[in-house]
Amino acid sequence: MDAYIVHLERLPALFNAWAKDSALSVPSATPEGFYEFIPWNGEAEIAWDYDLIYNPPKRFVMPAKETLISFDLKDLQAKPVFEAPAQIVFGMHPYDVKAISQLDQLMELGIPDQNYLKRREATVIMALTPQSVAETAFWASVGAEEVQHGFDLYWTKIGPASFLVEVGSKKGEELLHAAAPPTRATVSEKEAARRAKIKVNQFARRKQLLYNWEETPRLLAKNWDSPLWRKNSETCLACGSCNLVCPTCYCFDLVDEVDDKLETGTRSRSWDGCMLTSFALVAGDHNFRPKALDRYRHRYFRKGKYIYDKIGELGCVGCGRCVRACTANIANPLAVFNALWEESTHAF
Ligand code: SF4
Ligand code: SF4
Repeated sequence: MDAYIVHLERLPALFNAWAKDSALSVPSATPEGFYEFIPWNGEAEIAWDYDLIYNPPKRFVMPAKETLISFDLKDLQAKPVFEAPAQIVFGMHPYDVKAISQLDQLMELGIPDQNYLKRREATVIMALTPQSVAETAFWASVGAEEVQHGFDLYWTKIGPASFLVEVGSKKGEELLHAAAPPTRATVSEKEAARRAKIKVNQFARRKQLLYNWEETPRLLAKNWDSPLWRKNSETCLACGSCNLVCPTCYCFDLVDEVDDKLETGTRSRSWDGCMLTSFALVAGDHNFRPKALDRYRHRYFRKGKYIYDKIGELGCVGCGRCVRACTANIANPLAVFNALWEESTHAF
């Protein structure tokens, strides 16, 4: 993988050049003490050492609400709506890059999701090696500490004012040359980046699964009837917060809206969540997951088995957002999987 060195002083010129053609978002601290991706305005202060951006970056490729079709009832015409503005998301941690890579794979399965794919094609992702680890995170124990693809550029801080930038795509390399040609990295600079990654990954491993994450599908298959599902779900508020903040959740609801003259309208989709009581409600008032226990167990099977069965990866990248979002303190996949492991026979 080609790699270059970029110095901090060069970044404003680069960012300004990129922002001419694309909506550029960068990580920044909020006044409330959180972090958020905000639009680059020429002088935003970058939160290089942010630990977690609570609002998941899936919103860049799958907005919370988007129009899919517009229709005209007078002419009986319908046409697809595609919104895919050019955008660059700078500073995404590897576990979030991995989450988007999963969406890339899943949205290609079956009938490819054209709205997602067009938006994704117009999106440049610039990864950033974390310098801090959120208290609730466990990404290093589920194979999400580093990514080999899914990014256009991968930035790692290797000195007080210098970054090693690995190239993930031709588009990324072209962007790096936008303001002035960058310098190629030396062997020792590449080694410094490797050490920086090892250092933060070692720290992140303080929160660990008790077993190899690839055993999770089998662990769940053996524990469909575990008493843990009932016990934990008794306090579930069915608020759906764990779904909304999750970077890998992608379920949505479809809604048709028509104007008051019944002449024109739109079909749009909005994020939905399998923990909401209404999620599985269908015609005839039938609900195929009516109990909290059913919904709670389903979420963990989705994260630990169903997605794995489709693409060979866990549907949880260990970001820790759901752990923080759950006021009932029952949404922690690490705690649930470890508890299942401890109560199981370990007889694999
Ligand atoms: S299940 Fe929780 S920890 Fe795992 S990816 Fe989703 S929000 Fe992050
Ligand atoms: S597990 Fe927690 S965050 Fe998720 S729906 Fe239940 S109470 Fe809400």
